[in-house]
Parts: sequence; structure tokens; C-alpha cells
Amino acid sequence: MISTEELLDTIRGQVLLGESMKQHTSLRIGGEVDFYVDPLDRDDLCRAVALFDARKLPYVLIGRGSNLLVHDGGVRGAVIVTSRALGGYSVRKNTLMAGAGVPLRAVAAKTLALSLGGLEMLQGIPGTVGGAVAMNAGAHGQEISDVVSWIEILDNGNPRVIPGDEIAFGYRCCSLEGSVILGAGMKLEKLSGAERDKRDRLCREALQRRSISQPLSWPNAGSIFRNPRPEGNPSGLGAGQMIDACGLKGLRKGGAVISESHANVIINTGEARASDVMELICTANEHVRKMFGVSLELEIKLLGFEQTCC
Ligand SMILES: Cc1cc2nc3c(=O)[nH]c(=O)nc-3n(C[C@H](O)[C@H](O)[C@H](O)COP(=O)(O)OP(=O)(O)OC[C@H]3O[C@@H](n4cnc5c(N)ncnc54)[C@H](O)[C@@H]3O)c2cc1C
Repeated sequence: MISTEELLDTIRGQVLLGESMKQHTSLRIGGEVDFYVDPLDRDDLCRAVALFDARKLPYVLIGRGSNLLVHDGGVRGAVIVTSRALGGYSVRKNTLMAGAGVPLRAVAAKTLALSLGGLEMLQGIPGTVGGAVAMNAGAHGQEISDVVSWIEILDNGNPRVIPGDEIAFGYRCCSLEGSVILGAGMKLEKLSGAERDKRDRLCREALQRRSISQPLSWPNAGSIFRNPRPEGNPSGLGAGQMIDACGLKGLRKGGAVISESHANVIINTGEARASDVMELICTANEHVRKMFGVSLELEIKLLGFEQTCC
């Protein structure tokens, strides 16, 4: 157990009691979390983690909440947001060192402007460096794991640097998921002026395609399902193509709708609840299982759920 006084005495940043997670997720959905903690700086974040560990209070770190579905009943324990506490970065020669709370977009754009390649195609991903590492975020043929040379985590209260070759990355997953990721070092490729201009053009084209193929003007969490592995998927179709083939684009439950522009994205048209999104997830999965014999796995992370319906 932890008392509110102890929490407020220990943490110098902001601590909000019963904060709605709607404000902190890109889907704009979610109930209240017991303690929403926005530490002032890295030391403050480490102190908060130490306190929660000592009191055995469950906690989770989040970045921009762009890959999260939070239960309508909220989250027990604490949500610790990294944006302010771990928000610094620096570039030395061709190495980027970034705190976990830094927006991925910012460093992807900045490093390309410095003629450093390797992150530029990730500019359309609205998360933080920490979220990108935990998820092994990727787009248009680039994944963050391609350039990660080390990750710093908090290990029993002490910062520890883990070399890239000791970390297992897979499709939208990383062996350090569940750890407290403080930051990462990334080795980038020095580009000639001509190569930088070419990549800049390719990025702009990719961002343009995104703005047409994704429902960016509605709250959403990007792809709901992972694309199935080729071994168990004779159709060769991606998750969105399968859901589309089942005729589910536009399907609505409450305020949640399977996007007309991308069937692997669910949008919140106003007052959607997590239960609405979960119903669409289960319906899509049932149809895909019937038509293709494939069970889709979630790419989004669930917070506050004890079990899913499917
Ligand atoms: C419009 C849109 C487009 C998107 N396009 C893409 C895309 O092209 N490719 C792609 O891969 N993803 C995409 N996403 C999904 C999402 O942006 C990525 O998964 C992103 O990396 C999540 O970062 P975040 O900071 O928002 O993480 P959050 O959503 O806050 O958290 C995601 C997971 O990471 C964990 N986490 C976050 N920070 C830390 C930390 N410091 N330490 C430990 N664990 C941590 C959380 O606990 C959670 O499990 C898209 C999302 C949206 C809304």
C-alpha cells in the first residue's frame, strides 16, 4: 500500500489521482488511473519507480499512448509518463543518444537534416523513442532495431546499458518490453548530400501516402492487429486486407468504427468506449478466422484489461 502523502512527498513532478486516460492516449479512450505520474526529470522518475517497487504497487511506463487501448474501468496502480523526464537527446558524429520520452518524429527529422540516415522513414510514427524500442516500431522497410546499438534500462534501481546484440527484437516486439527503458543509443549512417535529398523525397512521398491511406484526422491507435506470419497464412494477405475481404470496413459499435480507409485501424468518432473497440476487435477476428482460418494477434497493447473477449 502507498499513501497519497508519501507519493506527493517523494515525487517532485506532477501526480494526479484518478486521472482519465482519455487525455493520454491517441484513441482518446480509457477510464481513470489511480496515480498518473509525470516526473520532473530522470532522477524523479527513478525515485518513483523505486517507491512503487518497494511498495509493490503495479506501474507501467507510457510514452505518447499511441499504441494503447485502456479499459473503461481504468488502470489500478500507476501510469508513469516519460515525455518530460526522459525528453533530451544529443547527436555526436553519427550516434544519436535519446531519452525514452523523446518524440520519434523529432529525432527522425533532425537526424535526416544532419545527413544521418536510418530513422527517417519512421517520421510518420507518433510515439516516443521508448515506445518505439519497446514495440520495435517500423515503417516503409525500416525498423528501429536496425539502428539500435544500446538501450539503457533501470535494473533493480540502477541504470544499466544493454548492448544491442544482447537484445532480441522481433516483429513489433522486443525482449526488453516490460523493463523500464530510460533511453537508447542509435548508430546512424552518414549520408552524402544527394543521398539525403533522395531519402527526404522518399519520406515526403511516404508521409503523403499515409495521409491518404490512414484516417489521420480521427483518434486512433494505428494498426490494431499484427500482420500474420507467412507460415500460417496461405493467403499472403495482411491483417487489414483480410478484414476488408470480410466486408467489415465501416462496421460500427457505439462510437468506434472500422476505418473505411484502412481496415486494420479502428477510429473513435466521438464517444467510443474501450468495450466498443474490443467488440469490433472480436468481430473482425471471428470473421477472419472463418474466412481465412487465421487467428489475428493484437499489435496494440491493452492496459487495465484482465482478459480479452477473443
Ligand atoms: C496514426 C498512427 C500511426 C502509426 N503508425 C505506426 C507505424 O507505421 N509503425 C509502427 O510500428 N507503429 C505505428 N503506430 C503505433 C505507435 O505509434 C507505435 O507503436 C509507437 O512506437 C508507440 O510509442 P508510444 O510512445 O506512443 O508508446 P505507448 O503507446 O505509450 O506504449 C506502447 C508500449 O510501449 C511501452 N513503453 C512505452 N515507453 C516505455 C518505456 N520508456 N519503457 C518501457 N516500456 C515503454 C508501454 O508500456 C506499452 O507497452 C501508429 C500509431 C498511430 C496512432
